[in-house]
Amino acid sequence: MCARNDRISSARRYLDRFEVDAVIFFGLANIRYLAGFTGSDGVLVVARDGGCFLTDSRYTSQASLEVAGLEIREYRGKLEGVTAFLKDAQIGRAGFEAEQTSVALFRSLAEALPEVKFVPIGGELDELRMLKEPEEIGLLERSAAIASAAFLDLLVRIRPGAVERELALDLEFAMKRAGADEKSFDFIVASGPRGALPHGKAGDRVIGHGELVTFDFGAVFRGYHSDETVTVAVGEPDPRQKEIYGIVKDAHDRALAAVRPGITFKELDGTARGYIEGKGYGSYFGHGLGHGVGLEVHEKPVVSFRSEGVVEEGMVFTIEPGIYIPDWGGVRIEDTVLVEGDGCRLLTKVPKELTIL
Ligand code: ZN
Ligand code: ZN
Repeated sequence: MCARNDRISSARRYLDRFEVDAVIFFGLANIRYLAGFTGSDGVLVVARDGGCFLTDSRYTSQASLEVAGLEIREYRGKLEGVTAFLKDAQIGRAGFEAEQTSVALFRSLAEALPEVKFVPIGGELDELRMLKEPEEIGLLERSAAIASAAFLDLLVRIRPGAVERELALDLEFAMKRAGADEKSFDFIVASGPRGALPHGKAGDRVIGHGELVTFDFGAVFRGYHSDETVTVAVGEPDPRQKEIYGIVKDAHDRALAAVRPGITFKELDGTARGYIEGKGYGSYFGHGLGHGVGLEVHEKPVVSFRSEGVVEEGMVFTIEPGIYIPDWGGVRIEDTVLVEGDGCRLLTKVPKELTIL
């Protein structure tokens, strides 16, 4: 790995757009993307004709291996390190990632350098990572394949008497054994009525016969995340379970069929949402249709009825409609797709026909 000069050049476009002399990156995902640094603490400053990666003594050797092509400075304190660099580089206006910077850090910077104008920049900086390069697509395919294969191996253990938390642990073990660096997030295993919680983390509940169980899981491979949701039936499903699963599955399939460059995120969300509304369950589908996946499990673009913008070739995002009914349970079906020339390709691999265990 080394600093990605092509990526740093595209980050420089923000200097003109926000009329600043430098942009300070505190968020690790953008730092990894731009500088190649995989450690857990550091700061990247991209200036007009240069840039600097700053970190503390724990990481200077690692940085010298990973961040070739950029000046590397060691600091004792982050604030002192950044302010010294901004002074040396005579930066007058400095942009920073507003969502990655605490109010306390911002105040300290402003107090330490009253002559510098600090300009907060919103999520626009994350759009840098929105179109995936072939190398990134390869890593996203790997992480999705690892997670899907691990889930298929888990199926035999999903039965009455199994505990949500233990299934989550088995899944994590299987992914790590298959080469995952770590899990993408704390897995959701929501059985029976807990399925009504879109974010019901695996708990102590024992799975019963005749229940639906929703698994939302993913792996990380060399920094790249995967995200997939499968809802299975333990025992023969009753007519209502079948009906609701069928509606979510059809909504999911309609959205997948609609993904192509040029469709707006609103229209895409509407393909699934309109269908669920038409079946009378619109008020039970409260979240957006999907989100980008990459160095973070939730990143740009936002695929929602609230989003502006248009689907582009090279984007990777999820399609995850759901219906959640209090005291009854829920169904969500999620795949991660890569947008291609005339449609999309699934990266996640578990078949989404209802699996009856
Ligand atoms: Zn998910
Ligand atoms: Zn998701």
